[in-house]
Amino acid sequence: MIFGKAEPIFQFSVLASGSKGNAVYIESGQARILIDIGIGPRVLQKRLEHIRREPRDISALFLTHEHSDHISGAGALTKKHSTPVYGTRGTRDAMRRHVSPDVDWRTIQQEDEAVVGDLTVESFATPHDAAESVAYTVRCGSQKLGHITDLGKITPRVIEKLQSCDVLLVESNHDERMLENGNYPWPLKQRIQSDVGHLSNEACADLLARVKHDGLKTVVLMHLSESNNHPEIAMDSARRVLGDHPATLFPARQKHPSVLIPVG
Ligand SMILES: [Zn+2]
Ligand SMILES: [Zn+2]
Repeated sequence: MIFGKAEPIFQFSVLASGSKGNAVYIESGQARILIDIGIGPRVLQKRLEHIRREPRDISALFLTHEHSDHISGAGALTKKHSTPVYGTRGTRDAMRRHVSPDVDWRTIQQEDEAVVGDLTVESFATPHDAAESVAYTVRCGSQKLGHITDLGKITPRVIEKLQSCDVLLVESNHDERMLENGNYPWPLKQRIQSDVGHLSNEACADLLARVKHDGLKTVVLMHLSESNNHPEIAMDSARRVLGDHPATLFPARQKHPSVLIPVG
């Protein structure tokens, strides 16, 4: 048996996921970050209690884009705890009214890298109907988590960035047929289906097929539509692509946080 160097602590919990609010908690030995905060302070507190953490423990907030299901709790958190916020200039400008001008904003580019403690967070552009949206990979030691939601299509850069992740948190928003036949107004259907809308189960499966590898440990299906998807349908679609791959697969939930899950 080979005894390698022990990997540092690196784990995550999906606190909320879906059109009513998104937040993902990620921690290492030296940092505790959130990606997005589309839930209010009381809900944040409650969801963190499930994993025995507190809002004041958060060392940095990373935002993907300015849509309210990703930022609605940013003002409250930063006001109370002076939490630094990482996001693009486009995101900042678009959400100016939601955070105080005194917020500790750390502008990142769409292609960038930020270091918080022993976490390295890389941003990359997503095609979405927002000002300057991004997705993130988070690395700690040799382990990597990829977080990608709110994108209308898969780009070569997305595929490149999500290679060799241990954990993938990936949007599986809607079933194409359910959206087509559902009762959403036509302009909204068009928005969701467009190249700057949301990733369908089918597109998610396509992405997984391109980035799966032997070292993949966990796949979480994110941002499921409550009207145009079912967790079982999304799971079946992803399972078809993963085949007999041993990765753990589960759908993120809107109202219930996951446990803390190790990345490696
Ligand atoms: Zn969203
Ligand atoms: Zn969005």
